[in-house]
Amino acid sequence: SDNLYDLLRSRFPADRSRPFIVTDDGRTVTYGELDSMVGRYARLLADLGLKKGDRVAVQVEKSAENIVLYLATVRAGGVYLPLNPAYTRAEVEYFLTDAEPHVFICRPETADDLRGVADGAKVAHLLTLGTRGDGTLPAQAADRDGAFDTVPAAPDDLAAILYTSGTTGRSKGAMMSHRNLASNALTLHRIWGFQPDDVLLHALPIFHTHGLFVATNCVLLNGSSMIFLPKFDADQVMGLLPKATVMMGVPTFYTRLLAHPGLTCEATSHMRLFISGSAPLLADTHKEFSARTGHAILERYGMTETGMLTSNPLDGDRIPGTVGFPLPEVELRIVDPETGGTLGTDEIGIIEVKGPNVFSGYWRMPEKTKQEIRHDGFFITGDVGRIDGRGYVHIVGRAKDLIISGGFNVYPKEVETVIDAIDGVVESAVVGVPHPDFGEAVTAVVLRRPGLTSPDEAAVIATCKAQLANFKVPKRVFFMDELPRNAMGKVQKNLLRDQHKALFT
Ligand code: ATP
Ligand code: MG
Repeated sequence: SDNLYDLLRSRFPADRSRPFIVTDDGRTVTYGELDSMVGRYARLLADLGLKKGDRVAVQVEKSAENIVLYLATVRAGGVYLPLNPAYTRAEVEYFLTDAEPHVFICRPETADDLRGVADGAKVAHLLTLGTRGDGTLPAQAADRDGAFDTVPAAPDDLAAILYTSGTTGRSKGAMMSHRNLASNALTLHRIWGFQPDDVLLHALPIFHTHGLFVATNCVLLNGSSMIFLPKFDADQVMGLLPKATVMMGVPTFYTRLLAHPGLTCEATSHMRLFISGSAPLLADTHKEFSARTGHAILERYGMTETGMLTSNPLDGDRIPGTVGFPLPEVELRIVDPETGGTLGTDEIGIIEVKGPNVFSGYWRMPEKTKQEIRHDGFFITGDVGRIDGRGYVHIVGRAKDLIISGGFNVYPKEVETVIDAIDGVVESAVVGVPHPDFGEAVTAVVLRRPGLTSPDEAAVIATCKAQLANFKVPKRVFFMDELPRNAMGKVQKNLLRDQHKALFT
């Protein structure tokens, strides 16, 4: 059938004693163990009455068992629904009420607190899973029969609902089918040239598309292993690079590695590929990383709703500040938001995409789905970008972050690029805040490198004035020690807007 698990399993190594997961505390899960654990977990879910299309909501810490649970849910015909462990009780309540899962799995220590929430959302079964194989889920699965017939799935059947990161508003549940996940995994595995003996260094969270689907599904399709870390720790990652060949990370991983004195050519000589995504990688970070290690980071672009959409080439120029070419089966166009017409080379507009990886809609949001998927099947990403003369896609920002000041459009990225180039500036975030005359006023938040050359507000404004039209120049500049970021390293501009909302009123 087209169940994603059948595809992944067909690629497991013939020698089932080969490792799949190696954890930092020295534990190994082989492919043989994986397959039988997935069978036992799937058996348990079926015994609990899970039917095709039923949701399994999961809010646990990263662990090998958590990966088993994802695969078991898919294999049993369920819909896997992971939640960020950082979500509070009230947030979990929203997600459970929205998703109405048949089973909810949480950490052992939050079970008492969440039981009432689960009951309120009519969850049939609440189970627990800890990080050391503890909890009622592994305990109840332990003595089940591991031989399980994968529940057949059609390509369009749902395999997962993943909530978006909530960067621009309330998280939306993206409905992902077996076909969506399979097609994207097969493409990425191919274009990134996975080798039989590749070892992936996995330090990402697994409640998000990056760590769960992009990283894990590539490894499973490759039948190879990953070093599985609970979180990103620069010292630990530096120590493990000699054992790995591929790392997938968010931009903050790379800036933290650059801050590590041990990052050198020798320290990274065993690595084949460094991949970055989920948030913009500064061109400077890309260049510094190349200078220090000889590795050109491969930047790619994607979303929860679509999986990956573009990638810089494995063979060929990986251009700093670009996200590369549309994937082979992805149609990508830049559209004029006013007319809906397709724009040409270097013209800036909204990115729209279509392909077998693009989701079918938002869970229980038919109106929003209709607004964002066009009649010809193209999904309106909400990202602003352009395609250059060589076909490389550049992300300019998000439509929701566009500033309209005095009737003029200001793309924050353009202003940020000017500020970032100032001596002594690490990075910046430019937002619009309410202004009585202009509608919105351009406001900059800047992170300085400690030292004598650090510019002050007047210097930043003066540099912008020299290079940008007046309406793009920040009216105010603030300095911070760190930009607010979420778990995926995305700058939370809504927090910055909020912080400065009373500035001019
Ligand atoms: P929400 O949709 O809830 O506001 P979100 O869009 O941040 O949150 P995700 O699906 O996790 O949720 O992130 C997808 C977005 O991340 C893309 O739409 C894009 O804006 C950004 N992104 C991903 N990769 C890159 C990249 N390489 N460069 C720039 N932006 C990227
Ligand atoms: Mg989004």
